[in-house]
Amino acid sequence: MEMATYRAWMYNRLLPGRRGYTTEFLNGLEEFMAIARKQPVYLSEGKIRCPCKSCKNEAYLTLDEVNVHILQRGFTPRYWYWTSHGERIPRTNVDVDMHSVSSSSQQWGYGDVNRHQDMVFDAAGLNHEQQNEEEHPNMEAAKFYEMLNSAQQPLWPGCENTSELSAAITMLSLKSKHNMSQACFNDVMKFMKESSHPKNVIPFNFRETKKLVVGLGLSSKKIDCCINGCLLYYKDDSTLKECKFCEEPRYKARNAHKKNSKDVPQKRLHYLPLIPRLQRLYASVKTAEHMRWHYENRREEGVLCHPSDGKAWKHFDHLYPEFANEPRNVRLGLCADGFTPFNQLGTQYSC
Ligand SMILES: [Zn+2]
Ligand SMILES: [Zn+2]
Repeated sequence: MEMATYRAWMYNRLLPGRRGYTTEFLNGLEEFMAIARKQPVYLSEGKIRCPCKSCKNEAYLTLDEVNVHILQRGFTPRYWYWTSHGERIPRTNVDVDMHSVSSSSQQWGYGDVNRHQDMVFDAAGLNHEQQNEEEHPNMEAAKFYEMLNSAQQPLWPGCENTSELSAAITMLSLKSKHNMSQACFNDVMKFMKESSHPKNVIPFNFRETKKLVVGLGLSSKKIDCCINGCLLYYKDDSTLKECKFCEEPRYKARNAHKKNSKDVPQKRLHYLPLIPRLQRLYASVKTAEHMRWHYENRREEGVLCHPSDGKAWKHFDHLYPEFANEPRNVRLGLCADGFTPFNQLGTQYSC
């Protein structure tokens, strides 16, 4: 399906010279109202989210009010899929309305926690309204948005300000802020689940809550390593049972009484994969700007205020002009605060 033509009527409201409304718009609006009328929130409250240009799906109004708003103002931009009115993004399509997502992140406030949530939405590239009309997310990003969108369902039918995802993020931030034990977390979730609307989608424990957020793509990878730090059990060495260098066993001694217990590594490294993090940095308008800073803010000759003004950086640009000409090029720096070279442990000398 061609994106630009799907429900094109939504943004073809007025006849030339503003002499009334186009027929396709009036017909389309009727179709929209018919779908909106089936919303559970309409059946229980008599109101729906208004998708007009100024309400942006944030206000709940009666059908008549919504009708007037849309006729006067038109639909909020890019609202091709009526996700705030019960529609899901079709799997094959790669465009997503981000209004329902960003508006719920803004409405919903909890001080510090809101900041955390903002961070997550920033990481997801969702705290901005305007997107280039021409540019659609690639398949991987689309899948991610789709997941995000499905986690945006209200916490229970009619719940206005909290979605499944925002509840999960809030609970996780509260857990870390107050140093909550996992048992306490599970008890709180259990209580919340039991005391809310019977049709709620509150995650019922820590594992379920984490599963929701892990989909945001910022998870870590666990790699076993030698207890003395000589090697990682990774790639070619991933099946070794003891260290190649110091011969320390990889796993802790098994408990003879527990026959089917899993092997427990003596030491484990948590690796934070770099690529998804870089992708997130480019996905948010706020951080993407910083990622291009070194390219867009060139200094005059002789002024040194950023690594990109230095000789090493320029030398690299000279060697790889194709790389250097891409404003989004990125380099990784390695920074260490004191290490002893040549394994001279115990000596005074450090770099
Ligand atoms: Zn409105
Ligand atoms: Zn070792």
